[in-house]
Amino acid sequence: MKKVKVIKVDVDKCNGCRACEMICSAFHSVPKYGSVGPERARIRVFSDPMRDIYVPVRAGEYTEAECNGRDLYTIEGKTYDECSFCRSSCPSRPLFKDPDSGLPLKCDMCEEDLEVETPMCVQWCLANALTYEERVVEDDEPQRPDEMEIGLEALVRKHGARKVLAAVNRLAG
Ligand code: SF4
Ligand code: SF4
Repeated sequence: MKKVKVIKVDVDKCNGCRACEMICSAFHSVPKYGSVGPERARIRVFSDPMRDIYVPVRAGEYTEAECNGRDLYTIEGKTYDECSFCRSSCPSRPLFKDPDSGLPLKCDMCEEDLEVETPMCVQWCLANALTYEERVVEDDEPQRPDEMEIGLEALVRKHGARKVLAAVNRLAG
């Protein structure tokens, strides 16, 4: 058995304040809280203010290729772009990529700081659109690559395994 962390999103309660984007980017900046920039956040809020629709989307897995098929979403009669609510960092859009390095961003549930029990975006969502829970699941679910593996994979694709390995050896030595 293992513990799975879940952030539940109540879209009806989201008011588009974007505090979640702000705190996520500040929490992950170097030094911590040293800067704020939504483009570095691992959560982005899709907004359609005319219709009062706001959808927070947390960055998910990196995907190397664009989807073969796409979904169109219709909400209250309006159809939204197929990529609007997608969680992936992918080649077809700039979302969820670090603006400096171009490396994919992925929500890490704020786990890099062991003292943070409740993810920062949940703590800062005063509208309670984001709530946090933990549930226990069977242990035989496939392991997903962590953030470091995703970053390394992207570097290997860009520079080749040999160069990346040489750089790692230099740093280790
Ligand atoms: S902090 Fe909460 S209410 Fe504000 S944009 Fe994010 S999810 Fe929506
Ligand atoms: S859980 Fe942490 S890393 Fe993930 S979106 Fe929220 S603040 Fe960002």
